[in-house]
Amino acid sequence: MNIHEYQARELFEKFGVATSKGSVASTPDEAYAAAKALGTDKIVVKAQIHAGGRGKGTFTNGFQGGVKLVTSAQDARDIAAKMLGQTLVTHQTGPEGKLVSKVLIAEALDISRELYFAILLDRATSAPIVVASTEGGMDIERVAEHTPEKIFSEKIHPTLGLQGFQTRKLAKKLGLTGPLIGQAGKLFTAMFKLFMARDCSQIEVNPLVVTPDGRLVALDAKFNFDDNALYRQPDIVAMRDKSEEDPREVAASAFNLNYIGLDGNIACLVNGAGLAMATMDIIQYAGGKPANFLDVGGGASKDQVTAAFKIILGDPNVKGILVNIFGGIMDCNVIADGIVAAAREVGLSIPLVVRLEGNNVEAGKQTLAQSGLALITGNDIADAAQKIVAEVKKAA
Ligand code: GDP
Ligand code: MN
Repeated sequence: MNIHEYQARELFEKFGVATSKGSVASTPDEAYAAAKALGTDKIVVKAQIHAGGRGKGTFTNGFQGGVKLVTSAQDARDIAAKMLGQTLVTHQTGPEGKLVSKVLIAEALDISRELYFAILLDRATSAPIVVASTEGGMDIERVAEHTPEKIFSEKIHPTLGLQGFQTRKLAKKLGLTGPLIGQAGKLFTAMFKLFMARDCSQIEVNPLVVTPDGRLVALDAKFNFDDNALYRQPDIVAMRDKSEEDPREVAASAFNLNYIGLDGNIACLVNGAGLAMATMDIIQYAGGKPANFLDVGGGASKDQVTAAFKIILGDPNVKGILVNIFGGIMDCNVIADGIVAAAREVGLSIPLVVRLEGNNVEAGKQTLAQSGLALITGNDIADAAQKIVAEVKKAA
Protein backbone atom coordinates (compact mmCIF):
# COMPACT_ATOMS: atom_id res chain seq x y z
CA MET A 1 0.00 0.00 0.00
CA ASN A 2 1.12 3.56 -0.75
CA ILE A 3 0.18 6.92 0.74
CA HIS A 4 0.35 10.54 -0.41
CA GLU A 5 3.17 12.90 0.41
CA TYR A 6 0.98 15.01 2.70
CA GLN A 7 0.17 11.86 4.69
CA ALA A 8 3.84 10.90 4.77
CA ARG A 9 4.56 14.28 6.33
CA GLU A 10 1.96 13.63 9.02
CA LEU A 11 3.86 10.47 9.91
CA PHE A 12 7.15 12.33 9.86
CA GLU A 13 5.76 14.90 12.28
CA LYS A 14 4.41 12.24 14.59
CA PHE A 15 7.78 10.47 14.74
CA GLY A 16 9.97 13.56 14.85
CA VAL A 17 11.47 13.44 11.37
CA ALA A 18 12.26 17.03 10.36
CA THR A 19 10.16 18.18 7.42
CA SER A 20 8.93 21.55 6.13
CA LYS A 21 5.64 23.10 7.26
CA GLY A 22 2.66 22.47 5.05
CA SER A 23 -0.92 21.35 4.66
CA VAL A 24 -3.15 19.79 2.06
CA ALA A 25 -5.79 21.52 -0.06
CA SER A 26 -8.56 20.23 -2.32
CA THR A 27 -9.68 23.57 -3.79
CA PRO A 28 -7.92 26.75 -4.92
CA ASP A 29 -9.48 28.61 -1.97
CA GLU A 30 -8.16 26.05 0.48
CA ALA A 31 -4.77 26.40 -1.19
CA TYR A 32 -4.93 30.18 -0.67
CA ALA A 33 -5.83 29.76 3.01
CA ALA A 34 -3.13 27.14 3.53
CA ALA A 35 -0.54 29.41 1.90
CA LYS A 36 -1.63 32.38 4.05
CA ALA A 37 -1.37 30.22 7.17
CA LEU A 38 2.28 29.46 6.41
CA GLY A 39 3.11 33.09 7.10
CA THR A 40 5.83 33.25 4.44
CA ASP A 41 6.03 34.28 0.78
CA LYS A 42 8.21 31.33 -0.14
CA ILE A 43 5.71 28.67 -1.02
CA VAL A 44 5.74 25.42 -2.96
CA VAL A 45 2.64 23.87 -4.53
CA LYS A 46 2.87 20.11 -5.01
CA ALA A 47 0.43 17.87 -6.85
CA GLN A 48 -0.50 14.85 -4.71
CA ILE A 49 -0.43 11.62 -6.68
CA HIS A 50 0.96 8.19 -5.92
CA ALA A 51 3.94 8.62 -8.22
CA GLY A 52 7.27 10.38 -8.25
CA GLY A 53 8.90 12.56 -10.86
CA ARG A 54 6.21 15.20 -10.41
CA GLY A 55 8.60 18.11 -10.69
CA LYS A 56 9.49 17.12 -14.25
CA GLY A 57 5.97 15.94 -15.10
CA THR A 58 3.51 17.49 -17.56
CA PHE A 59 -0.24 17.88 -17.22
CA THR A 60 -2.33 16.61 -20.11
CA ASN A 61 -3.55 20.20 -20.61
CA GLY A 62 0.04 21.21 -21.35
CA PHE A 63 0.82 22.81 -17.98
CA GLN A 64 4.43 22.02 -17.02
CA GLY A 65 5.46 20.66 -13.63
CA GLY A 66 3.63 19.13 -10.67
CA VAL A 67 5.92 20.94 -8.19
CA LYS A 68 5.92 24.74 -8.44
CA LEU A 69 7.60 27.43 -6.39
CA VAL A 70 5.50 30.59 -5.91
CA THR A 71 5.89 33.82 -3.94
CA SER A 72 2.38 34.69 -2.77
CA ALA A 73 -0.80 33.06 -1.53
CA GLN A 74 -2.56 34.47 -4.60
CA ASP A 75 -0.08 32.65 -6.88
CA ALA A 76 -0.51 29.49 -4.82
CA ARG A 77 -4.24 29.70 -5.48
CA ASP A 78 -3.69 30.20 -9.23
CA ILE A 79 -1.24 27.31 -9.52
CA ALA A 80 -3.52 25.06 -7.44
CA ALA A 81 -6.36 25.92 -9.83
CA LYS A 82 -4.19 24.81 -12.76
CA MET A 83 -3.31 21.48 -11.10
CA LEU A 84 -6.54 20.42 -9.39
CA GLY A 85 -8.83 18.26 -11.47
CA GLN A 86 -6.08 17.82 -14.07
CA THR A 87 -4.12 14.74 -15.07
CA LEU A 88 -0.40 14.70 -14.40
CA VAL A 89 1.90 12.47 -16.45
CA THR A 90 5.33 11.61 -15.03
CA HIS A 91 7.82 8.91 -15.94
CA GLN A 92 6.25 6.82 -13.18
CA THR A 93 2.55 7.20 -14.01
CA GLY A 94 2.54 5.69 -17.48
CA PRO A 95 1.17 7.68 -20.43
CA GLU A 96 -2.37 7.77 -18.98
CA GLY A 97 -1.18 9.87 -16.01
CA LYS A 98 -2.91 10.40 -12.68
CA LEU A 99 -5.73 12.69 -11.67
CA VAL A 100 -4.72 15.36 -9.16
CA SER A 101 -7.43 15.93 -6.57
CA LYS A 102 -5.28 17.40 -3.81
CA VAL A 103 -2.26 19.67 -3.62
CA LEU A 104 0.21 20.14 -0.80
CA ILE A 105 0.94 23.74 0.08
CA ALA A 106 4.28 23.86 1.87
CA GLU A 107 6.83 26.36 2.97
CA ALA A 108 9.57 26.42 0.30
CA LEU A 109 13.02 26.07 1.74
CA ASP A 110 16.25 27.40 0.32
CA ILE A 111 18.43 24.48 -0.61
CA SER A 112 22.22 24.15 -0.36
CA ARG A 113 22.44 20.45 -1.04
CA GLU A 114 20.04 17.72 -2.15
CA LEU A 115 20.68 14.22 -0.80
CA TYR A 116 18.97 10.87 -1.15
CA PHE A 117 18.05 8.70 1.84
CA ALA A 118 15.95 5.55 1.89
CA ILE A 119 15.21 2.68 4.22
CA LEU A 120 13.97 -0.51 2.62
CA LEU A 121 13.77 -4.22 3.16
CA ASP A 122 16.78 -6.06 1.86
CA ARG A 123 15.79 -9.46 0.55
CA ALA A 124 19.36 -10.74 0.75
CA THR A 125 19.62 -10.20 4.52
CA SER A 126 15.86 -10.30 5.28
CA ALA A 127 16.42 -7.12 7.28
CA PRO A 128 16.11 -3.37 6.75
CA ILE A 129 18.86 -1.55 4.89
CA VAL A 130 19.68 2.11 4.37
CA VAL A 131 20.47 3.26 0.85
CA ALA A 132 21.80 6.79 0.58
CA SER A 133 23.46 9.04 -1.95
CA THR A 134 24.98 12.47 -2.25
CA GLU A 135 23.06 12.82 -5.54
CA GLY A 136 19.59 13.72 -4.32
CA GLY A 137 16.83 15.45 -6.24
CA MET A 138 17.22 13.30 -9.32
CA ASP A 139 16.21 9.88 -10.43
CA ILE A 140 18.04 7.39 -8.23
CA GLU A 141 17.80 4.82 -11.03
CA ARG A 142 19.79 7.16 -13.22
CA VAL A 143 22.39 7.71 -10.49
CA ALA A 144 22.66 3.93 -10.11
CA GLU A 145 23.26 3.58 -13.83
CA HIS A 146 25.78 6.36 -14.41
CA THR A 147 27.52 6.94 -11.06
CA PRO A 148 26.90 3.85 -8.92
CA GLU A 149 29.88 4.77 -6.72
CA LYS A 150 27.81 7.69 -5.39
CA ILE A 151 25.26 5.32 -3.85
CA PHE A 152 26.08 3.52 -0.62
CA SER A 153 24.22 1.32 1.77
CA GLU A 154 24.27 0.28 5.39
CA LYS A 155 22.73 -2.97 6.58
CA ILE A 156 20.60 -2.69 9.69
CA HIS A 157 20.77 -5.38 12.34
CA PRO A 158 17.34 -7.06 12.58
CA THR A 159 17.13 -6.83 16.38
CA LEU A 160 19.65 -4.14 17.38
CA GLY A 161 18.28 -1.71 14.81
CA LEU A 162 20.04 1.29 13.32
CA GLN A 163 22.89 2.19 15.67
CA GLY A 164 24.67 5.41 16.47
CA PHE A 165 27.92 4.50 14.80
CA GLN A 166 25.97 3.73 11.63
CA THR A 167 24.13 7.05 11.53
CA ARG A 168 27.47 8.84 12.00
CA LYS A 169 29.06 6.77 9.25
CA LEU A 170 26.16 7.56 6.92
CA ALA A 171 26.29 11.26 7.79
CA LYS A 172 29.98 11.34 7.00
CA LYS A 173 29.54 9.59 3.66
CA LEU A 174 26.83 12.11 2.81
CA GLY A 175 29.40 14.84 3.42
CA LEU A 176 27.62 16.25 6.47
CA THR A 177 29.76 18.05 9.03
CA GLY A 178 29.47 19.84 12.38
CA PRO A 179 25.99 20.10 13.92
CA LEU A 180 24.49 18.43 10.82
CA ILE A 181 25.94 15.11 11.98
CA GLY A 182 23.85 15.27 15.15
CA GLN A 183 20.75 16.28 13.18
CA ALA A 184 21.31 13.40 10.80
CA GLY A 185 21.57 10.96 13.71
CA LYS A 186 18.28 12.21 15.09
CA LEU A 187 16.50 12.20 11.72
CA PHE A 188 17.75 8.76 10.60
CA THR A 189 16.92 7.21 13.99
CA ALA A 190 13.42 8.70 14.00
CA MET A 191 12.84 7.49 10.46
CA PHE A 192 13.97 3.99 11.33
CA LYS A 193 11.60 3.95 14.33
CA LEU A 194 8.78 4.97 12.02
CA PHE A 195 9.80 2.31 9.49
CA MET A 196 9.55 -0.44 12.12
CA ALA A 197 6.52 0.86 14.02
CA ARG A 198 4.38 1.18 10.90
CA ASP A 199 5.50 -1.99 9.10
CA CYS A 200 6.95 -0.10 6.16
CA SER A 201 8.65 -1.91 3.33
CA GLN A 202 10.11 1.34 2.00
CA ILE A 203 10.60 4.96 2.99
CA GLU A 204 12.33 6.99 0.33
CA VAL A 205 13.27 10.62 0.89
CA ASN A 206 14.40 12.35 -2.28
CA PRO A 207 15.51 15.00 -1.68
CA LEU A 208 16.72 15.17 1.87
CA VAL A 209 18.00 18.73 1.89
CA VAL A 210 20.56 20.82 3.71
CA THR A 211 19.43 24.44 4.01
CA PRO A 212 21.80 27.43 3.94
CA ASP A 213 21.01 28.05 7.62
CA GLY A 214 22.26 24.56 8.48
CA ARG A 215 19.18 22.42 8.83
CA LEU A 216 18.61 18.90 7.54
CA VAL A 217 15.03 18.47 6.28
CA ALA A 218 13.06 15.72 4.46
CA LEU A 219 11.41 17.55 1.53
CA ASP A 220 9.71 14.66 -0.21
CA ALA A 221 8.73 11.18 0.88
CA LYS A 222 7.50 8.01 -0.68
CA PHE A 223 6.21 5.18 1.51
CA ASN A 224 5.39 1.55 0.87
CA PHE A 225 3.76 -0.62 3.50
CA ASP A 226 3.75 -4.35 3.92
CA ASP A 227 0.21 -5.37 2.92
CA ASN A 228 0.38 -8.45 5.10
CA ALA A 229 0.83 -6.30 8.21
CA LEU A 230 -2.04 -3.90 7.50
CA TYR A 231 -4.33 -5.79 9.88
CA ARG A 232 -2.36 -4.26 12.75
CA GLN A 233 -1.98 -0.78 11.24
CA PRO A 234 -5.46 0.77 11.36
CA ASP A 235 -4.18 4.34 11.05
CA ILE A 236 -2.24 3.41 7.92
CA VAL A 237 -5.25 1.63 6.41
CA ALA A 238 -7.25 4.81 7.08
CA MET A 239 -4.83 6.66 4.76
CA ARG A 240 -5.53 4.40 1.82
CA ASP A 241 -6.70 6.31 -1.25
CA LYS A 242 -8.45 3.78 -3.44
CA SER A 243 -8.90 6.31 -6.25
CA GLU A 244 -5.12 6.07 -6.75
CA GLU A 245 -5.21 2.33 -7.23
CA ASP A 246 -6.12 0.21 -10.22
CA PRO A 247 -9.88 -0.40 -9.73
CA ARG A 248 -9.37 -4.03 -10.76
CA GLU A 249 -6.85 -4.44 -7.96
CA VAL A 250 -9.11 -2.72 -5.41
CA ALA A 251 -11.91 -5.14 -6.29
CA ALA A 252 -9.53 -8.09 -6.10
CA SER A 253 -8.17 -7.08 -2.70
CA ALA A 254 -11.72 -7.03 -1.29
CA PHE A 255 -11.83 -10.78 -2.03
CA ASN A 256 -8.26 -11.50 -0.95
CA LEU A 257 -7.25 -12.38 -4.49
CA ASN A 258 -3.66 -11.90 -5.60
CA TYR A 259 -4.31 -9.85 -8.71
CA ILE A 260 -2.11 -7.47 -10.66
CA GLY A 261 -3.52 -5.69 -13.69
CA LEU A 262 -1.43 -5.70 -16.88
CA ASP A 263 -2.06 -4.26 -20.31
CA GLY A 264 -2.45 -7.36 -22.49
CA ASN A 265 -5.72 -8.90 -23.70
CA ILE A 266 -5.60 -12.51 -22.47
CA ALA A 267 -6.78 -12.81 -18.90
CA CYS A 268 -5.62 -15.72 -16.83
CA LEU A 269 -6.97 -17.35 -13.71
CA VAL A 270 -4.53 -19.69 -12.04
CA ASN A 271 -3.97 -21.30 -8.67
CA GLY A 272 -0.51 -20.76 -7.26
CA ALA A 273 1.78 -17.79 -7.85
CA GLY A 274 4.46 -19.83 -9.59
CA LEU A 275 1.99 -21.44 -11.95
CA ALA A 276 0.46 -18.00 -12.60
CA MET A 277 3.87 -16.64 -13.58
CA ALA A 278 4.50 -19.66 -15.81
CA THR A 279 1.09 -19.22 -17.41
CA MET A 280 1.81 -15.57 -18.21
CA ASP A 281 5.14 -16.58 -19.71
CA ILE A 282 3.63 -19.26 -21.85
CA ILE A 283 0.89 -16.95 -23.12
CA GLN A 284 3.63 -14.57 -24.18
CA TYR A 285 5.60 -17.47 -25.69
CA ALA A 286 2.56 -18.51 -27.72
CA GLY A 287 2.38 -14.99 -29.15
CA GLY A 288 -0.21 -13.45 -26.84
CA LYS A 289 -0.12 -10.84 -24.08
CA PRO A 290 -1.41 -11.45 -20.56
CA ALA A 291 -4.00 -9.01 -19.20
CA ASN A 292 -3.24 -9.80 -15.60
CA PHE A 293 -1.53 -11.87 -12.99
CA LEU A 294 -4.09 -13.73 -10.90
CA ASP A 295 -3.44 -16.35 -8.29
CA VAL A 296 -6.66 -17.51 -6.64
CA GLY A 297 -4.66 -19.41 -4.04
CA GLY A 298 -4.90 -22.94 -2.82
CA GLY A 299 -8.08 -22.63 -0.79
CA ALA A 300 -10.22 -20.39 -2.99
CA SER A 301 -13.97 -20.53 -2.42
CA LYS A 302 -16.62 -20.47 -5.11
CA ASP A 303 -17.33 -16.83 -4.20
CA GLN A 304 -13.69 -15.90 -4.72
CA VAL A 305 -13.55 -17.64 -8.07
CA THR A 306 -16.76 -15.91 -9.12
CA ALA A 307 -15.36 -12.55 -8.02
CA ALA A 308 -12.13 -13.25 -9.88
CA PHE A 309 -14.04 -14.06 -13.04
CA LYS A 310 -16.09 -10.88 -12.77
CA ILE A 311 -12.98 -8.75 -12.34
CA ILE A 312 -11.45 -10.35 -15.41
CA LEU A 313 -14.60 -9.82 -17.47
CA GLY A 314 -14.94 -6.25 -16.22
CA ASP A 315 -11.69 -5.35 -17.98
CA PRO A 316 -12.64 -4.05 -21.46
CA ASN A 317 -9.22 -5.00 -22.85
CA VAL A 318 -9.78 -8.68 -22.17
CA LYS A 319 -10.52 -10.62 -25.36
CA GLY A 320 -10.02 -14.14 -24.07
CA ILE A 321 -9.55 -16.09 -20.85
CA LEU A 322 -7.23 -18.89 -19.94
CA VAL A 323 -8.00 -20.85 -16.78
CA ASN A 324 -5.08 -23.00 -15.69
CA ILE A 325 -5.68 -25.03 -12.56
CA PHE A 326 -3.46 -27.63 -11.07
CA GLY A 327 -5.58 -28.96 -8.24
CA GLY A 328 -3.27 -29.98 -5.46
CA ILE A 329 -5.08 -28.51 -2.50
CA MET A 330 -7.57 -26.79 -4.76
CA ASP A 331 -10.63 -28.79 -5.70
CA CYS A 332 -11.05 -28.56 -9.50
CA ASN A 333 -14.80 -28.74 -9.11
CA VAL A 334 -14.88 -25.58 -6.96
CA ILE A 335 -13.13 -23.73 -9.77
CA ALA A 336 -15.56 -25.19 -12.28
CA ASP A 337 -18.54 -24.12 -10.15
CA GLY A 338 -17.14 -20.62 -9.88
CA ILE A 339 -16.54 -20.35 -13.61
CA VAL A 340 -20.04 -21.49 -14.44
CA ALA A 341 -21.69 -19.22 -11.85
CA ALA A 342 -19.74 -16.16 -12.97
CA ALA A 343 -20.13 -16.85 -16.68
CA ARG A 344 -23.90 -17.13 -16.22
CA GLU A 345 -24.07 -13.98 -14.13
CA VAL A 346 -22.05 -11.77 -16.46
CA GLY A 347 -22.80 -13.51 -19.74
CA LEU A 348 -19.61 -14.86 -21.20
CA SER A 349 -19.11 -13.58 -24.74
CA ILE A 350 -15.39 -14.14 -25.26
CA PRO A 351 -13.39 -17.34 -25.80
CA LEU A 352 -12.53 -19.33 -22.69
CA VAL A 353 -9.91 -22.06 -22.59
CA VAL A 354 -9.78 -24.23 -19.49
CA ARG A 355 -7.07 -26.60 -18.44
CA LEU A 356 -7.90 -28.52 -15.30
CA GLU A 357 -5.71 -31.13 -13.70
CA GLY A 358 -5.50 -32.79 -10.30
CA ASN A 359 -7.81 -33.08 -7.31
CA ASN A 360 -11.40 -33.95 -8.27
CA VAL A 361 -10.72 -33.16 -11.92
CA GLU A 362 -13.36 -35.50 -13.31
CA ALA A 363 -16.16 -33.79 -11.38
CA GLY A 364 -14.82 -30.43 -12.49
CA LYS A 365 -14.77 -31.42 -16.14
CA GLN A 366 -18.27 -32.76 -15.81
CA THR A 367 -19.53 -29.53 -14.26
CA LEU A 368 -18.06 -27.58 -17.18
CA ALA A 369 -19.36 -30.02 -19.79
CA GLN A 370 -22.90 -29.94 -18.39
CA SER A 371 -22.95 -26.16 -18.05
CA GLY A 372 -23.66 -25.52 -21.70
CA LEU A 373 -20.85 -22.94 -21.77
CA ALA A 374 -18.95 -22.69 -25.03
CA LEU A 375 -15.54 -23.39 -23.62
CA ILE A 376 -12.48 -25.04 -25.07
CA THR A 377 -10.48 -27.64 -23.21
CA GLY A 378 -6.73 -27.43 -23.07
CA ASN A 379 -4.87 -30.71 -22.70
CA ASP A 380 -1.84 -29.21 -21.08
CA ILE A 381 -0.50 -25.76 -20.34
CA ALA A 382 1.20 -25.28 -23.73
CA ASP A 383 -1.81 -26.55 -25.64
CA ALA A 384 -4.12 -24.29 -23.61
CA ALA A 385 -1.97 -21.23 -24.27
CA GLN A 386 -1.79 -21.91 -28.01
CA LYS A 387 -5.55 -22.38 -28.16
CA ILE A 388 -6.45 -19.15 -26.38
CA VAL A 389 -3.95 -17.15 -28.45
CA ALA A 390 -5.41 -18.64 -31.65
CA GLU A 391 -8.98 -17.91 -30.51
CA VAL A 392 -8.20 -14.28 -29.66
CA LYS A 393 -6.42 -13.79 -33.00
CA LYS A 394 -9.36 -15.35 -34.82
CA ALA A 395 -11.82 -13.00 -33.12
CA ALA A 396 -9.72 -9.88 -33.80
P1 GDP B 1 9.12 14.68 -7.22
O1 GDP B 1 9.54 15.38 -8.47
O2 GDP B 1 7.80 14.01 -7.38
O3 GDP B 1 10.16 13.76 -6.68
O4 GDP B 1 8.85 15.84 -6.13
P2 GDP B 1 9.86 16.54 -5.10
O5 GDP B 1 9.12 16.81 -3.88
O6 GDP B 1 11.12 15.76 -4.94
O7 GDP B 1 10.18 17.91 -5.80
C1 GDP B 1 10.90 18.00 -7.01
C2 GDP B 1 11.98 19.04 -6.91
O8 GDP B 1 11.41 20.31 -6.63
C3 GDP B 1 12.97 18.78 -5.79
O9 GDP B 1 14.01 17.89 -6.16
C4 GDP B 1 13.48 20.19 -5.52
O10 GDP B 1 14.52 20.49 -6.43
C5 GDP B 1 12.29 21.07 -5.85
N1 GDP B 1 11.65 21.45 -4.58
C6 GDP B 1 10.71 20.79 -3.88
N2 GDP B 1 10.44 21.41 -2.72
C7 GDP B 1 11.23 22.51 -2.68
C8 GDP B 1 11.46 23.57 -1.74
O11 GDP B 1 10.87 23.63 -0.65
N3 GDP B 1 12.38 24.54 -2.07
C9 GDP B 1 13.06 24.49 -3.26
N4 GDP B 1 13.95 25.46 -3.50
N5 GDP B 1 12.90 23.53 -4.15
C10 GDP B 1 12.00 22.55 -3.88
MN1 MN C 1 11.34 13.62 -5.06
